[in-house]
Amino acid sequence: LHAVLDDSLKSLAPRAHDKGLELACHIAPDVPAVLGGDPSRLRQIVVNLVGNAVKFTDAGEVVVRVERVGGDHAMASVRFSVSDTGIGIPPEKIASIFEAFTQADASTTRRYGGTGLGLTISSRLVRLMGGAISVESEPGRGSTFHCTLPFEVRAAVEGSGPRRGFADLAGLSVLVVDDNATNRRILEEVLRGWGMRPTLVDGGTAAVQALQDAYDTGAPFDLGLIDFQMPDLDGFALAELIRSRPEFSTTLLLMLSSVGHRGDTIRSRERGIAMYLTKPVRQSVLLDALLTVRAGSDARPAASVPAKAPEQSGVSLRVLLAEDNAVNSLVVTALLAKRGHTIVAVTDGRQAVDAAARQTFDVALMDVQMPELDGLEATQAIRAAEALSGGPRLPIIALTAHAMKGDREACLAAGMDGYLPKPINAADLFSLLASFPAAADAPAPRAAEVTLQEPAVNVAEVLGRVDGDTELLRELVALYRGGAPRLLAEIRRCVESRDAFGLQGAAHALRGASANLGAHPTVRVTQALERMGRASELADADRCLADLEREAQRLDEALDELSGVGL
Ligand code: ADP
Repeated sequence: LHAVLDDSLKSLAPRAHDKGLELACHIAPDVPAVLGGDPSRLRQIVVNLVGNAVKFTDAGEVVVRVERVGGDHAMASVRFSVSDTGIGIPPEKIASIFEAFTQADASTTRRYGGTGLGLTISSRLVRLMGGAISVESEPGRGSTFHCTLPFEVRAAVEGSGPRRGFADLAGLSVLVVDDNATNRRILEEVLRGWGMRPTLVDGGTAAVQALQDAYDTGAPFDLGLIDFQMPDLDGFALAELIRSRPEFSTTLLLMLSSVGHRGDTIRSRERGIAMYLTKPVRQSVLLDALLTVRAGSDARPAASVPAKAPEQSGVSLRVLLAEDNAVNSLVVTALLAKRGHTIVAVTDGRQAVDAAARQTFDVALMDVQMPELDGLEATQAIRAAEALSGGPRLPIIALTAHAMKGDREACLAAGMDGYLPKPINAADLFSLLASFPAAADAPAPRAAEVTLQEPAVNVAEVLGRVDGDTELLRELVALYRGGAPRLLAEIRRCVESRDAFGLQGAAHALRGASANLGAHPTVRVTQALERMGRASELADADRCLADLEREAQRLDEALDELSGVGL
Protein backbone atom coordinates (compact mmCIF):
# COMPACT_ATOMS: atom_id res chain seq x y z
CA LEU A 1 0.00 0.00 0.00
CA HIS A 2 2.75 2.40 0.93
CA ALA A 3 4.49 1.80 -2.37
CA VAL A 4 1.34 2.32 -4.43
CA LEU A 5 0.58 5.63 -2.74
CA ASP A 6 4.16 6.69 -2.93
CA ASP A 7 4.31 6.04 -6.68
CA SER A 8 1.01 7.77 -7.33
CA LEU A 9 1.92 10.87 -5.37
CA LYS A 10 5.48 11.14 -6.61
CA SER A 11 4.14 11.45 -10.16
CA LEU A 12 1.85 14.33 -9.17
CA ALA A 13 4.16 16.09 -6.72
CA PRO A 14 5.92 18.24 -9.37
CA ARG A 15 2.60 19.57 -10.68
CA ALA A 16 1.42 20.35 -7.15
CA HIS A 17 4.69 22.04 -6.41
CA ASP A 18 4.56 24.16 -9.57
CA LYS A 19 1.22 25.51 -8.37
CA GLY A 20 2.65 26.16 -4.91
CA LEU A 21 0.39 23.54 -3.33
CA GLU A 22 1.30 21.46 -0.35
CA LEU A 23 0.79 17.76 -1.09
CA ALA A 24 0.62 15.53 1.96
CA CYS A 25 -0.26 11.94 2.65
CA HIS A 26 -1.03 10.20 5.88
CA ILE A 27 -1.57 6.49 6.28
CA ALA A 28 -3.01 5.67 9.70
CA PRO A 29 -0.83 3.22 11.62
CA ASP A 30 -3.56 0.58 11.86
CA VAL A 31 -3.82 0.17 8.09
CA PRO A 32 -2.10 -3.12 7.19
CA ALA A 33 1.02 -2.42 5.15
CA VAL A 34 0.49 -5.35 2.82
CA LEU A 35 -2.89 -5.85 1.20
CA GLY A 36 -4.14 -8.18 -1.48
CA GLY A 37 -5.77 -6.23 -4.30
CA ASP A 38 -5.07 -4.68 -7.67
CA PRO A 39 -2.27 -2.16 -7.24
CA SER A 40 -2.46 -0.74 -10.75
CA ARG A 41 -6.21 -0.07 -10.51
CA LEU A 42 -5.78 1.48 -7.09
CA ARG A 43 -3.01 3.65 -8.49
CA GLN A 44 -5.30 4.71 -11.33
CA ILE A 45 -8.01 5.79 -8.88
CA VAL A 46 -5.62 7.64 -6.58
CA VAL A 47 -3.96 9.40 -9.52
CA ASN A 48 -7.35 10.47 -10.86
CA LEU A 49 -8.59 11.83 -7.53
CA VAL A 50 -5.34 13.53 -6.56
CA GLY A 51 -4.83 14.75 -10.12
CA ASN A 52 -8.27 16.40 -10.06
CA ALA A 53 -7.61 17.87 -6.64
CA VAL A 54 -4.39 19.45 -7.87
CA LYS A 55 -6.04 20.60 -11.09
CA PHE A 56 -8.98 22.31 -9.39
CA THR A 57 -6.97 23.94 -6.58
CA ASP A 58 -5.04 27.16 -6.99
CA ALA A 59 -3.84 27.70 -3.45
CA GLY A 60 -3.55 25.68 -0.27
CA GLU A 61 -3.16 21.96 -0.02
CA VAL A 62 -4.12 18.54 -1.21
CA VAL A 63 -4.13 15.86 1.46
CA VAL A 64 -4.53 12.13 1.10
CA ARG A 65 -5.63 10.24 4.20
CA VAL A 66 -5.83 6.48 4.43
CA GLU A 67 -7.69 4.83 7.29
CA ARG A 68 -8.99 1.42 8.14
CA VAL A 69 -12.74 1.63 8.61
CA GLY A 70 -13.67 -1.97 9.12
CA GLY A 71 -13.03 -5.60 8.31
CA ASP A 72 -11.56 -8.47 10.27
CA HIS A 73 -8.32 -10.44 10.38
CA ALA A 74 -8.72 -11.54 6.77
CA MET A 75 -10.28 -8.46 5.14
CA ALA A 76 -9.69 -4.77 5.63
CA SER A 77 -12.02 -2.03 4.55
CA VAL A 78 -9.77 0.91 3.73
CA ARG A 79 -10.93 4.46 3.15
CA PHE A 80 -8.92 6.83 0.98
CA SER A 81 -9.87 10.49 1.39
CA VAL A 82 -8.52 13.12 -0.96
CA SER A 83 -9.16 16.66 0.29
CA ASP A 84 -8.36 19.87 -1.48
CA THR A 85 -8.82 23.57 -0.84
CA GLY A 86 -9.87 24.29 -4.41
CA ILE A 87 -12.87 25.63 -6.31
CA GLY A 88 -15.29 23.01 -5.00
CA ILE A 89 -18.32 21.58 -6.77
CA PRO A 90 -21.81 23.13 -6.70
CA PRO A 91 -24.34 20.87 -4.87
CA GLU A 92 -26.58 20.48 -7.91
CA LYS A 93 -23.67 19.11 -9.96
CA ILE A 94 -22.39 16.61 -7.45
CA ALA A 95 -24.69 13.82 -8.57
CA SER A 96 -23.64 14.10 -12.19
CA ILE A 97 -19.85 14.36 -12.02
CA PHE A 98 -19.48 10.60 -11.84
CA GLU A 99 -21.31 10.29 -15.16
CA ALA A 100 -19.40 9.96 -18.38
CA PHE A 101 -18.36 13.15 -20.16
CA THR A 102 -19.77 15.36 -17.42
CA GLN A 103 -18.00 18.34 -16.03
CA ALA A 104 -19.37 20.39 -13.17
CA ASP A 105 -19.02 23.62 -15.03
CA ALA A 106 -19.51 23.96 -18.75
CA SER A 107 -16.52 26.29 -18.89
CA THR A 108 -14.35 23.68 -17.16
CA THR A 109 -13.12 22.22 -20.42
CA ARG A 110 -11.84 25.57 -21.52
CA ARG A 111 -10.28 26.53 -18.20
CA TYR A 112 -8.99 23.25 -16.88
CA GLY A 113 -9.09 20.86 -19.81
CA GLY A 114 -10.02 17.25 -19.20
CA THR A 115 -12.55 14.87 -20.66
CA GLY A 116 -15.06 14.35 -17.88
CA LEU A 117 -14.16 10.67 -17.97
CA GLY A 118 -11.72 10.29 -15.08
CA LEU A 119 -14.31 10.08 -12.32
CA THR A 120 -16.52 7.83 -14.40
CA ILE A 121 -13.71 5.36 -14.84
CA SER A 122 -12.67 5.66 -11.19
CA SER A 123 -16.17 5.08 -9.89
CA ARG A 124 -16.62 2.04 -12.16
CA LEU A 125 -13.31 0.60 -10.98
CA VAL A 126 -14.28 1.22 -7.38
CA ARG A 127 -17.60 -0.52 -7.90
CA LEU A 128 -15.97 -3.48 -9.66
CA MET A 129 -13.57 -3.80 -6.75
CA GLY A 130 -16.56 -3.96 -4.41
CA GLY A 131 -16.14 -0.48 -2.94
CA ALA A 132 -17.88 2.87 -2.87
CA ILE A 133 -16.97 6.42 -3.84
CA SER A 134 -18.53 9.69 -2.70
CA VAL A 135 -17.75 13.37 -2.48
CA GLU A 136 -18.39 16.25 -0.10
CA SER A 137 -17.79 19.70 -1.37
CA GLU A 138 -18.35 23.34 -0.64
CA PRO A 139 -17.96 25.68 -3.59
CA GLY A 140 -15.07 28.04 -3.06
CA ARG A 141 -13.69 26.07 -0.10
CA GLY A 142 -12.76 22.72 -1.50
CA SER A 143 -13.75 19.10 -1.97
CA THR A 144 -13.11 15.77 -0.33
CA PHE A 145 -13.50 12.57 -2.29
CA HIS A 146 -13.89 9.41 -0.22
CA CYS A 147 -13.31 6.04 -1.68
CA THR A 148 -13.69 2.91 0.42
CA LEU A 149 -12.30 -0.37 -0.85
CA PRO A 150 -12.09 -3.88 0.58
CA PHE A 151 -8.74 -5.65 0.53
CA GLU A 152 -7.41 -8.97 1.60
CA VAL A 153 -5.05 -8.68 4.58
CA ARG A 154 -1.70 -10.26 3.82
CA ALA A 155 1.06 -11.09 6.23
CA ALA A 156 3.79 -8.48 6.01
CA VAL A 157 6.73 -9.64 3.95
CA GLU A 158 10.32 -8.56 4.24
CA GLY A 159 10.95 -5.25 2.53
CA SER A 160 7.41 -3.92 2.70
CA GLY A 161 6.26 -1.12 4.95
CA PRO A 162 8.57 0.28 7.59
CA ARG A 163 11.56 -1.99 7.54
CA ARG A 164 13.02 -1.64 10.96
CA GLY A 165 11.69 -1.33 14.44
CA PHE A 166 11.25 2.13 15.83
CA ALA A 167 12.10 1.24 19.40
CA ASP A 168 15.36 3.18 19.01
CA LEU A 169 13.43 6.39 18.49
CA ALA A 170 11.29 6.15 21.61
CA GLY A 171 11.56 9.15 23.88
CA LEU A 172 13.58 11.31 21.48
CA SER A 173 12.57 14.94 21.31
CA VAL A 174 12.04 16.30 17.84
CA LEU A 175 11.33 19.81 16.66
CA VAL A 176 9.06 19.92 13.61
CA VAL A 177 9.30 23.15 11.63
CA ASP A 178 6.66 23.50 8.93
CA ASP A 179 4.41 26.38 7.95
CA ASN A 180 1.66 24.00 6.83
CA ALA A 181 -0.69 22.98 9.64
CA THR A 182 -1.74 19.72 7.97
CA ASN A 183 1.84 18.62 7.57
CA ARG A 184 2.53 19.44 11.20
CA ARG A 185 -0.47 17.39 12.32
CA ILE A 186 0.50 14.45 10.15
CA LEU A 187 4.11 14.49 11.31
CA GLU A 188 2.99 14.83 14.91
CA GLU A 189 0.81 11.75 14.66
CA VAL A 190 3.46 9.72 12.84
CA LEU A 191 6.25 10.71 15.25
CA ARG A 192 4.09 10.09 18.31
CA GLY A 193 3.25 6.71 16.84
CA TRP A 194 6.96 5.92 17.02
CA GLY A 195 7.12 7.00 20.65
CA MET A 196 8.91 10.27 19.91
CA ARG A 197 8.16 13.59 21.57
CA PRO A 198 7.39 16.13 18.84
CA THR A 199 7.18 19.89 19.33
CA LEU A 200 5.56 21.73 16.45
CA VAL A 201 6.35 25.23 15.24
CA ASP A 202 5.28 27.07 12.12
CA GLY A 203 8.45 28.83 11.03
CA GLY A 204 12.07 29.74 11.49
CA THR A 205 11.65 32.36 14.18
CA ALA A 206 9.54 30.09 16.36
CA ALA A 207 12.03 27.29 15.70
CA VAL A 208 15.01 29.26 16.99
CA GLN A 209 12.98 30.27 20.05
CA ALA A 210 11.99 26.66 20.72
CA LEU A 211 15.60 25.49 20.33
CA GLN A 212 16.75 28.19 22.73
CA ASP A 213 14.07 27.35 25.30
CA ALA A 214 14.91 23.65 25.11
CA TYR A 215 18.61 24.39 25.49
CA ASP A 216 17.97 26.71 28.44
CA THR A 217 16.05 23.98 30.27
CA GLY A 218 18.99 21.63 29.74
CA ALA A 219 17.15 19.35 27.34
CA PRO A 220 18.08 20.35 23.79
CA PHE A 221 16.20 18.70 20.94
CA ASP A 222 17.60 15.42 19.70
CA LEU A 223 16.33 16.02 16.19
CA GLY A 224 14.96 18.76 13.98
CA LEU A 225 12.70 18.10 10.99
CA ILE A 226 12.74 21.20 8.83
CA ASP A 227 10.50 22.00 5.90
CA PHE A 228 12.41 23.66 3.09
CA GLN A 229 9.67 25.90 1.66
CA MET A 230 8.67 28.34 4.40
CA PRO A 231 7.72 31.97 4.05
CA ASP A 232 9.75 33.58 6.83
CA LEU A 233 13.04 31.75 6.50
CA ASP A 234 13.67 28.94 4.08
CA GLY A 235 14.91 25.62 5.39
CA PHE A 236 18.52 26.08 4.32
CA ALA A 237 18.72 29.53 5.87
CA LEU A 238 17.26 28.19 9.09
CA ALA A 239 19.65 25.24 9.10
CA GLU A 240 22.54 27.63 8.57
CA LEU A 241 21.38 29.74 11.47
CA ILE A 242 21.01 26.71 13.73
CA ARG A 243 24.42 25.34 12.76
CA SER A 244 26.02 28.70 13.46
CA ARG A 245 25.08 28.34 17.13
CA PRO A 246 27.35 25.85 18.90
CA GLU A 247 24.78 25.36 21.67
CA PHE A 248 22.42 23.73 19.13
CA SER A 249 25.07 21.48 17.69
CA THR A 250 23.72 18.34 19.35
CA THR A 251 20.44 18.60 17.44
CA LEU A 252 20.56 16.50 14.27
CA LEU A 253 18.78 18.11 11.34
CA LEU A 254 16.71 16.55 8.57
CA MET A 255 15.32 18.57 5.69
CA LEU A 256 12.04 17.88 3.92
CA SER A 257 11.46 19.51 0.56
CA SER A 258 8.76 19.41 -2.13
CA VAL A 259 11.24 19.66 -4.94
CA GLY A 260 14.68 18.25 -5.17
CA HIS A 261 17.04 20.67 -6.86
CA ARG A 262 20.31 19.66 -8.36
CA GLY A 263 22.92 19.75 -5.64
CA ASP A 264 20.49 19.96 -2.71
CA THR A 265 22.05 17.00 -0.98
CA ILE A 266 25.45 18.62 -1.22
CA ARG A 267 24.08 21.97 -0.07
CA SER A 268 22.49 20.12 2.84
CA ARG A 269 25.74 18.53 3.82
CA GLU A 270 27.48 21.87 3.71
CA ARG A 271 24.94 23.18 6.16
CA GLY A 272 25.38 20.26 8.51
CA ILE A 273 22.02 18.70 7.61
CA ALA A 274 22.18 14.97 8.19
CA MET A 275 19.54 13.94 5.67
CA TYR A 276 17.54 15.50 2.85
CA LEU A 277 14.19 13.96 1.91
CA THR A 278 11.67 14.79 -0.81
CA LYS A 279 8.01 15.27 0.04
CA PRO A 280 5.58 13.69 0.26
CA VAL A 281 7.77 11.48 2.41
CA ARG A 282 6.79 7.89 2.72
CA GLN A 283 6.57 6.90 6.39
CA SER A 284 8.95 4.01 5.96
CA VAL A 285 11.46 6.35 4.31
CA LEU A 286 11.16 8.84 7.16
CA LEU A 287 11.56 6.07 9.70
CA ASP A 288 14.62 4.76 7.90
CA ALA A 289 16.05 8.25 7.73
CA LEU A 290 15.53 8.91 11.43
CA LEU A 291 17.04 5.58 12.39
CA THR A 292 19.97 6.08 10.04
CA VAL A 293 20.68 9.57 11.29
CA ARG A 294 20.46 8.37 14.86
CA ALA A 295 22.69 5.39 14.18
CA GLY A 296 25.24 7.67 12.53
CA SER A 297 25.19 9.92 15.55
CA ASP A 298 25.61 7.03 17.96
CA ALA A 299 28.90 6.33 16.31
CA ARG A 300 29.79 9.84 17.41
CA PRO A 301 28.15 10.02 20.82
CA ALA A 302 28.65 13.75 21.27
CA ALA A 303 26.22 14.49 18.50
CA SER A 304 23.30 12.89 20.24
CA VAL A 305 24.01 13.13 23.94
CA PRO A 306 22.57 16.44 24.97
CA ALA A 307 24.26 18.97 27.19
CA LYS A 308 27.38 16.92 27.71
CA ALA A 309 30.96 17.93 27.29
CA PRO A 310 31.98 17.66 23.67
CA GLU A 311 33.40 14.34 22.62
CA GLN A 312 37.12 14.25 23.07
CA SER A 313 37.88 11.85 20.29
CA GLY A 314 41.47 11.32 21.19
CA VAL A 315 43.02 14.73 21.42
CA SER A 316 41.63 18.18 21.44
CA LEU A 317 43.42 20.24 18.81
CA ARG A 318 43.94 23.95 18.49
CA VAL A 319 42.86 24.65 14.95
CA LEU A 320 43.45 27.78 12.93
CA LEU A 321 40.73 28.11 10.31
CA ALA A 322 41.24 30.62 7.51
CA GLU A 323 38.15 30.78 5.34
CA ASP A 324 36.44 33.81 3.86
CA ASN A 325 33.14 32.13 3.13
CA ALA A 326 31.04 32.65 6.26
CA VAL A 327 28.88 29.59 5.74
CA ASN A 328 31.80 27.24 5.18
CA SER A 329 33.51 28.73 8.17
CA LEU A 330 30.48 28.21 10.40
CA VAL A 331 30.02 24.64 9.27
CA VAL A 332 33.64 23.67 9.82
CA THR A 333 33.68 25.49 13.16
CA ALA A 334 30.52 23.70 14.31
CA LEU A 335 31.85 20.32 13.21
CA LEU A 336 35.15 20.85 14.98
CA ALA A 337 33.65 22.32 18.14
CA LYS A 338 31.40 19.29 18.40
CA ARG A 339 34.52 17.16 18.42
CA GLY A 340 36.04 19.13 21.24
CA HIS A 341 38.59 21.04 19.17
CA THR A 342 39.34 24.70 19.78
CA ILE A 343 39.02 26.91 16.72
CA VAL A 344 40.34 30.33 15.87
CA ALA A 345 38.55 31.42 12.71
CA VAL A 346 39.92 34.20 10.50
CA THR A 347 38.67 35.41 7.16
CA ASP A 348 41.75 36.19 5.11
CA GLY A 349 45.35 35.18 4.60
CA ARG A 350 46.81 38.22 6.31
CA GLN A 351 44.91 37.48 9.54
CA ALA A 352 45.98 33.86 9.30
CA VAL A 353 49.66 34.84 9.17
CA ASP A 354 49.18 37.18 12.16
CA ALA A 355 47.32 34.55 14.18
CA ALA A 356 50.00 31.94 13.47
CA ALA A 357 52.65 34.38 14.65
CA ARG A 358 50.85 35.14 17.91
CA GLN A 359 49.59 31.73 18.92
CA THR A 360 50.59 28.08 18.70
CA PHE A 361 48.24 25.87 16.70
CA ASP A 362 48.26 22.14 16.11
CA VAL A 363 46.97 22.46 12.59
CA ALA A 364 45.74 25.10 10.16
CA LEU A 365 42.92 24.67 7.66
CA MET A 366 43.53 27.18 4.92
CA ASP A 367 41.19 28.20 2.16
CA VAL A 368 43.16 28.68 -1.04
CA GLN A 369 41.16 31.54 -2.50
CA MET A 370 41.00 34.37 0.02
CA PRO A 371 41.22 38.15 -0.08
CA GLU A 372 44.37 40.04 1.04
CA LEU A 373 46.73 37.09 0.94
CA ASP A 374 45.51 33.90 -0.65
CA GLY A 375 46.13 30.56 1.01
CA LEU A 376 49.29 29.83 -0.92
CA GLU A 377 50.85 33.22 -0.14
CA ALA A 378 49.83 32.98 3.51
CA THR A 379 51.43 29.55 3.74
CA GLN A 380 54.64 30.84 2.22
CA ALA A 381 54.67 33.71 4.72
CA ILE A 382 54.10 31.33 7.65
CA ARG A 383 56.88 29.00 6.43
CA ALA A 384 59.25 31.95 6.06
CA ALA A 385 58.49 33.09 9.61
CA GLU A 386 59.08 29.56 10.94
CA ALA A 387 62.44 29.42 9.17
CA LEU A 388 63.46 32.71 10.78
CA SER A 389 62.28 31.86 14.29
CA GLY A 390 63.26 28.20 14.18
CA GLY A 391 59.82 27.48 15.68
CA PRO A 392 57.84 24.26 15.13
CA ARG A 393 56.34 23.61 11.75
CA LEU A 394 52.58 24.24 11.60
CA PRO A 395 50.82 21.56 9.54
CA ILE A 396 48.69 23.38 6.97
CA ILE A 397 45.85 21.75 5.09
CA ALA A 398 44.49 23.41 1.97
CA LEU A 399 40.74 23.74 1.53
CA THR A 400 39.95 24.20 -2.09
CA ALA A 401 36.88 24.31 -4.22
CA HIS A 402 38.39 23.69 -7.61
CA ALA A 403 39.56 20.16 -8.05
CA MET A 404 41.80 21.34 -10.81
CA LYS A 405 44.71 19.34 -12.01
CA GLY A 406 47.88 20.67 -10.50
CA ASP A 407 46.05 22.25 -7.58
CA ARG A 408 47.35 19.74 -5.15
CA GLU A 409 50.88 20.18 -6.51
CA ALA A 410 50.61 23.96 -6.16
CA CYS A 411 49.50 23.57 -2.54
CA LEU A 412 52.33 21.21 -1.69
CA ALA A 413 54.83 23.42 -3.50
CA ALA A 414 53.69 26.38 -1.41
CA GLY A 415 54.56 24.42 1.73
CA MET A 416 51.16 22.98 2.57
CA ASP A 417 50.96 19.46 3.94
CA GLY A 418 47.65 18.19 2.69
CA TYR A 419 44.59 18.92 0.78
CA LEU A 420 40.84 18.69 1.44
CA PRO A 421 38.45 19.28 -1.44
CA LYS A 422 35.35 21.40 -0.84
CA PRO A 423 32.54 20.89 0.00
CA ILE A 424 34.18 19.66 3.15
CA ASN A 425 33.10 16.19 4.03
CA ALA A 426 32.87 15.73 7.79
CA ALA A 427 34.28 12.21 7.73
CA ASP A 428 37.31 13.26 5.67
CA LEU A 429 37.92 16.23 7.93
CA PHE A 430 37.79 14.11 11.07
CA SER A 431 39.94 11.33 9.72
CA LEU A 432 42.46 13.91 8.62
CA LEU A 433 42.54 15.62 11.99
CA ALA A 434 42.81 12.28 13.74
CA SER A 435 46.24 11.96 12.15
CA PHE A 436 47.50 15.05 13.97
CA PRO A 437 48.93 14.74 17.43
CA ALA A 438 48.49 17.86 19.55
CA ALA A 439 51.72 19.85 19.43
CA ALA A 440 51.96 19.82 23.21
CA ASP A 441 51.99 16.03 23.31
CA ALA A 442 54.17 15.21 20.37
CA PRO A 443 56.63 16.74 17.97
CA ALA A 444 55.12 18.33 14.91
CA PRO A 445 54.61 15.76 12.22
CA ARG A 446 56.84 15.85 9.22
CA ALA A 447 55.28 16.78 5.94
CA ALA A 448 55.43 13.28 4.58
CA GLU A 449 53.39 11.92 7.45
CA VAL A 450 50.48 14.23 6.96
CA THR A 451 50.15 14.18 3.21
CA LEU A 452 46.55 13.24 2.62
CA GLN A 453 45.58 10.17 0.76
CA GLU A 454 43.04 10.86 -1.94
CA PRO A 455 39.65 9.52 -0.87
CA ALA A 456 38.70 6.24 -2.55
CA VAL A 457 35.35 7.73 -3.57
CA ASN A 458 34.64 11.37 -4.23
CA VAL A 459 31.25 11.39 -2.53
CA ALA A 460 30.41 15.00 -3.31
CA GLU A 461 31.13 14.49 -6.97
CA VAL A 462 29.14 11.31 -7.31
CA LEU A 463 26.19 12.79 -5.43
CA GLY A 464 26.31 15.71 -7.82
CA ARG A 465 26.31 13.31 -10.73
CA VAL A 466 23.18 11.49 -9.52
CA ASP A 467 21.56 14.80 -8.75
CA GLY A 468 21.49 14.14 -5.04
CA ASP A 469 19.38 11.04 -5.60
CA THR A 470 20.62 8.78 -2.83
CA GLU A 471 18.45 5.91 -4.00
CA LEU A 472 20.09 6.01 -7.40
CA LEU A 473 23.47 6.15 -5.72
CA ARG A 474 22.58 3.08 -3.70
CA GLU A 475 21.70 1.33 -6.96
CA LEU A 476 24.99 2.37 -8.52
CA VAL A 477 26.87 1.03 -5.53
CA ALA A 478 24.91 -2.24 -5.67
CA LEU A 479 25.61 -2.54 -9.40
CA TYR A 480 29.27 -1.94 -8.81
CA ARG A 481 29.44 -4.47 -6.04
CA GLY A 482 27.55 -6.97 -8.16
CA GLY A 483 30.05 -6.77 -11.00
CA ALA A 484 33.39 -5.61 -9.66
CA PRO A 485 34.59 -8.82 -7.94
CA ARG A 486 34.15 -10.80 -11.15
CA LEU A 487 36.01 -8.16 -13.19
CA LEU A 488 38.77 -7.99 -10.62
CA ALA A 489 39.14 -11.79 -10.76
CA GLU A 490 39.25 -11.63 -14.55
CA ILE A 491 41.95 -8.94 -14.45
CA ARG A 492 43.94 -11.06 -12.02
CA ARG A 493 43.63 -14.08 -14.30
CA CYS A 494 44.67 -12.08 -17.37
CA VAL A 495 47.72 -10.59 -15.65
CA GLU A 496 48.80 -14.00 -14.40
CA SER A 497 48.31 -15.70 -17.77
CA ARG A 498 49.65 -12.66 -19.65
CA ASP A 499 46.40 -12.34 -21.63
CA ALA A 500 46.81 -8.78 -22.92
CA PHE A 501 43.60 -8.74 -24.93
CA GLY A 502 41.49 -10.03 -22.06
CA LEU A 503 43.17 -7.58 -19.69
CA GLN A 504 42.28 -4.64 -21.87
CA GLY A 505 38.59 -5.63 -21.91
CA ALA A 506 38.23 -6.39 -18.21
CA ALA A 507 40.19 -3.30 -17.12
CA HIS A 508 38.09 -1.17 -19.43
CA ALA A 509 34.87 -2.48 -17.91
CA LEU A 510 36.06 -1.97 -14.35
CA ARG A 511 37.29 1.50 -15.19
CA GLY A 512 33.85 2.49 -16.50
CA ALA A 513 32.13 1.12 -13.41
CA SER A 514 34.45 2.88 -10.98
CA ALA A 515 34.28 6.14 -12.91
CA ASN A 516 30.54 6.11 -12.28
CA LEU A 517 31.27 6.11 -8.58
CA GLY A 518 33.84 8.89 -8.70
CA ALA A 519 36.40 6.32 -7.53
CA HIS A 520 39.33 8.16 -9.08
CA PRO A 521 42.24 6.18 -7.65
CA THR A 522 40.68 2.95 -8.97
CA VAL A 523 39.96 4.62 -12.31
CA ARG A 524 43.62 5.57 -12.66
CA VAL A 525 45.00 2.09 -11.99
CA THR A 526 42.46 0.36 -14.20
CA GLN A 527 43.25 2.88 -16.92
CA ALA A 528 46.94 2.01 -16.65
CA LEU A 529 46.13 -1.70 -16.89
CA GLU A 530 43.86 -1.09 -19.85
CA ARG A 531 46.67 0.78 -21.60
CA MET A 532 49.13 -2.02 -20.87
CA GLY A 533 46.67 -4.52 -22.30
CA ARG A 534 46.12 -2.52 -25.43
CA ALA A 535 49.88 -2.09 -25.99
CA SER A 536 50.58 -5.73 -25.02
CA GLU A 537 53.15 -4.30 -22.63
CA LEU A 538 52.65 -6.35 -19.47
CA ALA A 539 56.06 -5.88 -17.84
CA ASP A 540 54.60 -3.60 -15.18
CA ALA A 541 51.26 -5.36 -14.91
CA ASP A 542 52.00 -7.22 -11.66
CA ARG A 543 52.89 -4.05 -9.80
CA CYS A 544 49.82 -2.37 -11.22
CA LEU A 545 47.63 -5.30 -10.22
CA ALA A 546 48.93 -5.03 -6.66
CA ASP A 547 47.97 -1.35 -6.70
CA LEU A 548 44.55 -2.24 -8.00
CA GLU A 549 44.01 -4.85 -5.29
CA ARG A 550 44.88 -2.26 -2.68
CA GLU A 551 42.62 0.38 -4.21
CA ALA A 552 39.77 -2.10 -4.60
CA GLN A 553 40.07 -2.89 -0.91
CA ARG A 554 40.02 0.81 0.00
CA LEU A 555 37.06 1.39 -2.28
CA ASP A 556 35.21 -1.48 -0.69
CA GLU A 557 35.74 0.00 2.75
CA ALA A 558 34.63 3.43 1.54
CA LEU A 559 31.44 1.94 0.10
CA ASP A 560 30.80 0.17 3.40
CA GLU A 561 31.14 3.50 5.13
CA LEU A 562 28.75 5.10 2.66
CA SER A 563 26.08 2.52 3.29
CA GLY A 564 26.67 3.02 6.98
CA VAL A 565 25.50 6.62 6.67
CA GLY A 566 22.43 5.70 4.69
CA LEU A 567 23.85 6.14 1.21
P1 ADP B 1 -12.03 15.78 -15.98
O1 ADP B 1 -11.23 16.16 -14.78
O2 ADP B 1 -11.24 15.10 -17.03
O3 ADP B 1 -12.88 16.89 -16.49
P2 ADP B 1 -13.36 13.95 -14.19
O4 ADP B 1 -14.39 12.89 -14.49
O5 ADP B 1 -12.15 13.50 -13.50
O6 ADP B 1 -13.05 14.64 -15.56
O7 ADP B 1 -14.10 15.07 -13.37
C1 ADP B 1 -15.37 15.51 -13.74
C2 ADP B 1 -15.63 16.89 -13.24
O8 ADP B 1 -15.79 16.89 -11.82
C3 ADP B 1 -14.52 17.88 -13.49
O9 ADP B 1 -14.55 18.42 -14.77
C4 ADP B 1 -14.80 18.93 -12.43
O10 ADP B 1 -15.82 19.81 -12.86
C5 ADP B 1 -15.35 18.09 -11.28
N1 ADP B 1 -14.30 17.79 -10.29
C6 ADP B 1 -13.65 16.62 -10.13
N2 ADP B 1 -12.78 16.68 -9.10
C7 ADP B 1 -12.88 17.93 -8.60
C8 ADP B 1 -12.25 18.62 -7.52
N3 ADP B 1 -11.33 18.04 -6.74
N4 ADP B 1 -12.60 19.90 -7.30
C9 ADP B 1 -13.53 20.50 -8.08
N5 ADP B 1 -14.16 19.91 -9.10
C10 ADP B 1 -13.87 18.63 -9.38
